[in-house]
Amino acid sequence: MSIWPQWEALAAWWRTRRLVRKLRTRADIEAWQGRQLARLQRDVLPLLPFYRDVDATELEGLPVIDKRLLMSRFEDFNLPGITADEGWAALTSGGRVGEFHVGASTGTSGNRGLYVISETERWRWLGTMIAKTMPRLRRARIALILPLDTSLYAAARGGLLKLRFFDLKQGLEACAEGVTALDPDTLIAPPKVLRWLCDNGGPLRRVRHVFSAAEVLDPRDREIIEARFGVSVREIYMATEGLLGVACEHGTLHLCEDCVKFEYEQPVRGSELVTPIITDFSRQTQAMVRYRMNDLLRLRDTPCPCGSPLQAVAQVEGRMDDLLHLPGVGGVVTVTPDVMRNAIVGADRSIDDFRLVQTAADRLELSLTSALAAEAARAALERLLLAMGAQATIDVTIAPVLEVSARKLRRVERRWQP
Ligand SMILES: [Zn+2]
Repeated sequence: MSIWPQWEALAAWWRTRRLVRKLRTRADIEAWQGRQLARLQRDVLPLLPFYRDVDATELEGLPVIDKRLLMSRFEDFNLPGITADEGWAALTSGGRVGEFHVGASTGTSGNRGLYVISETERWRWLGTMIAKTMPRLRRARIALILPLDTSLYAAARGGLLKLRFFDLKQGLEACAEGVTALDPDTLIAPPKVLRWLCDNGGPLRRVRHVFSAAEVLDPRDREIIEARFGVSVREIYMATEGLLGVACEHGTLHLCEDCVKFEYEQPVRGSELVTPIITDFSRQTQAMVRYRMNDLLRLRDTPCPCGSPLQAVAQVEGRMDDLLHLPGVGGVVTVTPDVMRNAIVGADRSIDDFRLVQTAADRLELSLTSALAAEAARAALERLLLAMGAQATIDVTIAPVLEVSARKLRRVERRWQP
């Protein structure tokens, strides 16, 4: 591989750090985003078939898109005109179409999303992420354990940085062996992998920085991982859709408003949770404009002591797909995943893992590792359902170990479609 793409990572690092100094207030951010969005509308969108016939001068005039629309007209949203069929075929044979890289999300089949980026963009992504996780360049050994398609990243090595990617599809044991051999000071991995490393990983004495990425970080997982490594866990909010947020040194998750414009919708009446609609102005190969995400966020309304004007997030609470819809006295009752989770983990101090799946219109399946805790959790859920006026039968399963796979972990999940 030529050395130039790696320079893109360094350039992105420098740009990101410069923006931290430049964007001091909300007004600075809005002005910066305004200029970037104007550039996107002027230079990129006219080249894409989907936007050719859309007549809009303001961002607000562009249509809101979702995964279904994006996947059905994939070729109309990317500059090389790669179709979804070509993308899926490329994924099974090295992940490239010409000079472009194709990747996919790890969702359930039928619900997976594709993306296409250039070589330059993927190194930029890496540089931006390192700039946001490591404000000062220092000597570092970084282990990135992610559910990636192997072709997307190889090891990167510079004078100061030693960075290795581990593909979760190799299995946790193989990843853990590699991580132990690298002896990293920085771990970036989904929380379920960090939890697994707590119990099964090697000594990992050098670890000083732990980042949770790609999945929802439950408060209980955070406690366990922090106790094991003796450092605070910082969150990275990322998806197929890109790099969306990184926690600052105070542990507050800040949205990447220097690269992405966020708009919000309130999907559940009476809940403070919002769903973001994102416009990523750092992307060029594939447009991600007014794209409705599947996530549920709780925004924080107090400023962070770090002084960053980037919007802070109190918690990523789960996904829209996992809103439970239960029958109730006065019609359907919609319950957000965080409410269910809090009832379960609050029922018994010993509960540090569980699964709750809606399997039918009025059926919930609760899995835990201890029968005693399961009874407490069932009782807590029943009280909660009663208080909300919802009705459902709760089936309890006791299993010695709860499933951990390369698939995204969702402790509260809806497998039933209304
Ligand atoms: Zn902060």
